[in-house]
Amino acid sequence: MKIAIEELAGCSGCTIAVLDLHEMLLDIVKDADIVYSPVIMDVKEPPEGIDIAFVTGAVRNAENQEHLERIRRRAKTLVAFGTCACYGGISGLSMLNSNEDLFSCVYQGVDTVKPNGAIPTDVPPFLYRAFAVGDLVKVDYYITGCPPKEAFLKQIIPAMIKGDTLELSRKSVCSE
Ligand code: SF4
Repeated sequence: MKIAIEELAGCSGCTIAVLDLHEMLLDIVKDADIVYSPVIMDVKEPPEGIDIAFVTGAVRNAENQEHLERIRRRAKTLVAFGTCACYGGISGLSMLNSNEDLFSCVYQGVDTVKPNGAIPTDVPPFLYRAFAVGDLVKVDYYITGCPPKEAFLKQIIPAMIKGDTLELSRKSVCSE
């Protein structure tokens, strides 16, 4: 079983939520290899033949879209993981402003930017709006939460890896 975690436009909190499984990760890696995660490991691109890809973050720029389409091609099962991936989340709020205003604010409107206020040329071009993962590719499962709760991940991830059917409690959205 090969699993991957792809990072799009988000805060990396969803990947940290996986690390927050602590010692349960040792059980998970008995049954599965984590073959790709830009946050956890130094692997530049996902291999072919991934069984389950967890995708975190929304699609905000051309690079996010390219990485999403690539992981979709290489994964049998794709999971939209976290509120940004499922609905747009924090990245989706960027649609309240134009791309020009966003770049101007980030690179020219705060005290910590370089004195010349130059917008870097290597920033991938923004799409005209933010997209949830399911807007652009087929999603097999959605796991919501910002980030998803540890208590649910402890039920969901091992069950997915073992191919078990899982019934979450009705209270799964708002409480443990
Ligand atoms: Fe971060 Fe929340 Fe988005 Fe996950 S859903 S990437 S924790 S902002």
